[in-house]
Amino acid sequence: ANRIRYKTKIAVIGAGQAGLSTAYHLKRRGLEAGRDFVVLDEAPRPGGAWQFRWPSLTLSTVNRIHDLPGMPFEETIATNATEVKASVAVPHYYELYEKKFGLQVYRPLKVEKVYWHNDRLHIDTSAALFSAQGLVNATGTWQNPYIPEYPGAALFEGEQLHTRDFKTADYFKGKHVIIVGAGISAIQLLNQISKVTTTTWVTRRPPEFREGPFDDAAGHNAVAMVEERVRKGLPPLSVVSVTGLPLSPTVLDMKKRGVLNRLPMFSEITKTGVKWADGREEKADVILWNTGFKGALSHLDAVLPREEGDGIVMAGSLATMVAKEPRIHLVGYGPSASTIGANRAGGAAARELMRELGL
Ligand code: FAD
Repeated sequence: ANRIRYKTKIAVIGAGQAGLSTAYHLKRRGLEAGRDFVVLDEAPRPGGAWQFRWPSLTLSTVNRIHDLPGMPFEETIATNATEVKASVAVPHYYELYEKKFGLQVYRPLKVEKVYWHNDRLHIDTSAALFSAQGLVNATGTWQNPYIPEYPGAALFEGEQLHTRDFKTADYFKGKHVIIVGAGISAIQLLNQISKVTTTTWVTRRPPEFREGPFDDAAGHNAVAMVEERVRKGLPPLSVVSVTGLPLSPTVLDMKKRGVLNRLPMFSEITKTGVKWADGREEKADVILWNTGFKGALSHLDAVLPREEGDGIVMAGSLATMVAKEPRIHLVGYGPSASTIGANRAGGAAARELMRELGL
């Protein structure tokens, strides 16, 4: 009851690519940071989810980090770019960015619950209560790892890990690892782990490898497809699940090493490993789920109108506006879940929300 209360016009939750881009555009459109809008972030330091990425993810193994508006990433990278850890370089970039534009991120401040009160949004955090007329949610997906359910999962005596738990391949030495998933993370971790121990790779559908580098057309189609889904209120798919995997030199080398022999999904998990529908079993010490992430939106349960099937109908020029509640935008969700998408979406959300609120 005696908690500090702050009144503002727009609250931005999350200071990753999506939140920072939004904040930049709110400021450029005349709002004052820390007064007319506030940016709240749970993480201890600048960097969004990039500060938590595994150490072997370098600028040469990420797809591409898109520039935030008004400041090129390139200029902030200190040394030989290819060997730089993404978990260092991107947070450094975001930190300089926040300072340059005076975005005043409040951290660490976890938003626990958002609800309506007298036609204002109340944003309840670990340290203070904020009230706002409108909200841009930019909380990403890192906090909400997805692991599909399989019978027997609770029986397994080995370890079950998710992509977000991965630190180094050495951890897996001497263990047999079942790697689940057909996305970029699955391939990257399979590559590293298979160099130090034995692995089995399982995927739901046969993975689709694409010749040539990731091109703009493939990316564009993937985004359009996800956008179409969310405009209908369907849950988004990951953008990668629709673009396929590039046949990179790493992938070709993995083929040569014989580690890309993909098996279909097992049908159950046992005490000691996994079992397929045909009765075949395999022992495992670790099951590593590279099965993706979903939007970290649980703090919005009270204010997000959900469809059957749990999707949210999205509207607005870049599908960031919650169709049934235009005072709430989701940036970095669905079609904008990439650094380039989040970047553009921040501009659209700032413009549309300010218009909606008459600011
Ligand atoms: P985030 O960077 O996740 O930021 C969200 C912020 O919200 C965090 O700082 C978090 O602390 C905060 N937050 C969350 N919940 C709360 C809460 N309740 N209260 C307060 N704060 C909260 N995209 C690319 O374009 N190129 C790539 O090469 C690429 N590589 C990737 C590699 C991996 C392993 C992964 C997992 C993703 C990759 N992506 C890549 C996707 C990309 O990371 C994201 O789409 C983009 O960076 C997300 O930005 P964001 O701002 O939406 O989220």
